[in-house]
Amino acid sequence: MANKNDNGTEKPTRRDLLRAGVRGAALLSLGSGLGLGMGALGRRSSGDGRVWQINPDKCIQCENCASYCVLNPSAVKCVHATGICGYCELCFGYFDAAGVQTTGAEGQLCPTGAIHRQHVSGPDYEYAIDEDDCIGCGRCVEGCNRDGNGAFYLQVRHDRCVNCSQCTIAEACPSGAFVRLPATRPYLLREPEAS
Ligand code: SF4
Ligand code: SF4
Ligand code: SF4
Repeated sequence: MANKNDNGTEKPTRRDLLRAGVRGAALLSLGSGLGLGMGALGRRSSGDGRVWQINPDKCIQCENCASYCVLNPSAVKCVHATGICGYCELCFGYFDAAGVQTTGAEGQLCPTGAIHRQHVSGPDYEYAIDEDDCIGCGRCVEGCNRDGNGAFYLQVRHDRCVNCSQCTIAEACPSGAFVRLPATRPYLLREPEAS
C-alpha cells in the first residue's frame, strides 16, 4: 500500500532517505579522501605533475592489482559508489555466486573479509569497504559488474600510492586500464547521474 503524508503526497521511503543521506556522506567521504590524496600528491606527483589511475571502464578484474604493486598491501583499493548501489540483499560483489547456498556471512566472496554489510530495512542492505583490509584483488568488482550496478570498482588511492615513475601494475595490466591523470584531478569516480 502506498505510504502517504497527511497532505496526500507520497512519503519518502526509508530507502529514499538512506540514498539521500548516503549520497551526501559519500561525497563528503570522497572529498576527504581526495583531500588526503591531494596532500600526498603534493609530495608524490612526478615531475610532469601526473599520477597513475585506473579507468574502471577498461579494468577486467584480472587480480594483478593485488600482486604487482611495489607496496604490500597494494595501493589499489575497492571504492564503493553508494549513490549507484542497489542495496541488494543478494549482492554478487559480497557473496560468492559459485558456492552461495545461503545469504549468511559464510558465503562471502572477499578473501580478506573487507566488505561489511548492514541491514537497513526490508530487502535493503548497506555495504562498506574497510580499506585497510582490502588488497585490491577486484573479485567483488567482477561480481558487482557482472550481476549488479557496477557500484564496486578499483582505484589507485593516492594517500597510499608512491607514484612510481613506472608503475609495475600498469606494466602488467592486460587491458590498458592504467592511465596518467593530472595530479589536480587524480580519480576517475563513478557517480550517480544528476536527477
Ligand atoms: S605507482 Fe607504484 S605504488 Fe602506485 S599503484 Fe603503481 S606500483 Fe603501486
Ligand atoms: S574482494 Fe578484493 S577488491 Fe573487493 S574488497 Fe575484498 S580485497 Fe578488496
Ligand atoms: S591490472 Fe588492469 S585489468 Fe587487472 S585488475 Fe588491475 S586495472 Fe584491472
